[in-house]
Amino acid sequence: MRKSVPNTVSFWGKSYFEDTDWLIIGAGLVGLQCATEIKLAYPAKRVVVIDQGVIGNAASLRNAGFACFGSAGELLDEIERSGKDAAFNLYLQRFYGIQRLIQKFGAAAIGFEPTGGFEVFTHAETTKLELLQHEIPWLNQELNYFLRNQHRPFIHEFKRSAVDLFSVQSIADSGMNICPLSIVASEEGPLQPHRLYLSVRTLATQSGVEICESFRIASYEDRVGGVVVYADDGETIQTEQLLLCTNGFTQSLDKQAPVLPARGQVFVTESLPWQPLKGLYHADDGYLYFRNLGDRILIGGGRNIDMKTEETMEMENTQTIREYIREYLQDVILPLRKSMGGVKFDYEWSGIMGMGPQRTPIICADSNRVYKAVRMGGMGVALSAWVAEEVLKLIQLNDGK
Ligand SMILES: Cc1cc2nc3c(=O)[nH]c(=O)nc-3n(C[C@H](O)[C@H](O)[C@H](O)COP(=O)(O)OP(=O)(O)OC[C@H]3O[C@@H](n4cnc5c(N)ncnc54)[C@H](O)[C@@H]3O)c2cc1C
Repeated sequence: MRKSVPNTVSFWGKSYFEDTDWLIIGAGLVGLQCATEIKLAYPAKRVVVIDQGVIGNAASLRNAGFACFGSAGELLDEIERSGKDAAFNLYLQRFYGIQRLIQKFGAAAIGFEPTGGFEVFTHAETTKLELLQHEIPWLNQELNYFLRNQHRPFIHEFKRSAVDLFSVQSIADSGMNICPLSIVASEEGPLQPHRLYLSVRTLATQSGVEICESFRIASYEDRVGGVVVYADDGETIQTEQLLLCTNGFTQSLDKQAPVLPARGQVFVTESLPWQPLKGLYHADDGYLYFRNLGDRILIGGGRNIDMKTEETMEMENTQTIREYIREYLQDVILPLRKSMGGVKFDYEWSGIMGMGPQRTPIICADSNRVYKAVRMGGMGVALSAWVAEEVLKLIQLNDGK
């Protein structure tokens, strides 16, 4: 077979990256927004983003489009994992991130609809719902306390009056085979990932960021005079500073990085004659999620039933998860449909997330030349704008600004 990628580097190819000040690996939502922040703060610097794929095809264009902050069940789970302060702060970072995306690009441009996010419970989970219901006043009180103490301009609107971010509402008319009550996060809603990605990418290029795709980086060396980056095709790039925004793939460049790959699988049904959903839905402590997509249902997750297999950088869908998701869809979401021959999937795909023992992102400087913004914990849509601002703050701090 004819090899379409050359295995030699031309003189011109080698010269192309001369004078690169910032090289950013990863053209996902995080890499592109970090690049924009850096370019806007340092307009004279040459900022280049490199990616092995094209158009954010690892997670940023493969996600479910939930502009969400985490369900009440997830928040309690996170408090147990990382403690109260870390959990509430993480929740508010996601909250801030979504508000910033809406502020920067506009709700219509990114396809955001403020429908609310509904946490639902099967009948077997009635006790869990009851326990969670008791925690809602406390969660709201704490969230308001943390909101009031945030030093971010964005939250003015929310600071003025105490807002109940979670409430308990009836969902009895949904036609789903679930408990009649749901815990609702009123500020959540679906967005359209392709529109968000396009908005983020357009702003990056308009700001003067360069994007080079189909270019895989194999390794890098942090040297006193700068960073040397080696690409798979033999290209060597010298850059003053390097930023890794490689999320679930980070261990392919730094084996010690505490970021594990986690595959997320997504399925979209055929067109349905009726649509029981009106917004975002979380189930099973956030491991399952579903939403309406026109007259279809998008449903994803379920990696908790096959955790070890899903700890991978391979993008494919498995029979185990497909069947588990189909069963949930037919037993819980569309119980009437089961007796009518079941539901077909028209689309399915998977993407790779970056996970760790904690769900907090890693934003760090390994030296004053090499930085990382990775481990988005499966919530990088929500976090990305906040992460980019934090990366810039860290760079400016190291620069003595
Ligand atoms: C199925 C699924 C559903 C999700 N749903 C949601 C959701 O509803 N809401 C939410 O907030 N988040 C969701 N997420 C998470 C969210 O999509 C990610 O956290 C976010 O997109 C991460 O952005 P990123 O830029 O950090 O990483 P990515 O988008 O993964 O980008 C990293 C980039 O680095 C590139 N790269 C890696 N290694 C190299 C290398 N060696 N050389 C060159 N390039 C390299 C990759 O090709 C990739 O494009 C979901 C994720 C998945 C997979």
